[in-house]
Amino acid sequence: MAFCKVCTCGEKIVFERPLSYPEKCPSCGRRLVDFMTYVEDDPRVEELLKNTSGTTEEEKDKKPVFGETSSVKKQYYLKLINGSMIPIPDEGCIIGRTETGAEELAEFPSVSRQHLRVTPRRNIGVLVEDISTYGTLVDGQRIVKNTPVRVVDGSKITLCDLETVLMAKEGND
Ligand SMILES: [Zn+2]
Repeated sequence: MAFCKVCTCGEKIVFERPLSYPEKCPSCGRRLVDFMTYVEDDPRVEELLKNTSGTTEEEKDKKPVFGETSSVKKQYYLKLINGSMIPIPDEGCIIGRTETGAEELAEFPSVSRQHLRVTPRRNIGVLVEDISTYGTLVDGQRIVKNTPVRVVDGSKITLCDLETVLMAKEGND
């Protein structure tokens, strides 16, 4: 059984033992510890690769083209354990008790005033970056502060001890 990680750049890195992956992505140099480890034949891997294909480093550095309609637009939300939904604007935002979601997060004092930077990226999901005091988990794994990590529809994002789920709704405007 082999394992693999899928880097934000679309590179699939395969390795034999769960922890035997290289420190950095061979194509872009991102730290691989930031990405989920999957069993190589996990169907989610195919899905991730599909979502990253066609997105190269060069393309990502270009300015986004507004009005482009080639792919279905997704509206992302962070759903809290109490059912509240925090909509994430296309241009990204900071989630926190004095930022986006201030009202929904008011009753959760463990969440930082500025907790998580969230940036939707066309076709590849959403990048999240922990900027908090007490940390953030993605699918149960603590993420490295100030380092963007890619998440997708259904990812569990725990703000300190507050469980949330990233949700996407498809729409045309
Ligand atoms: Zn990479």
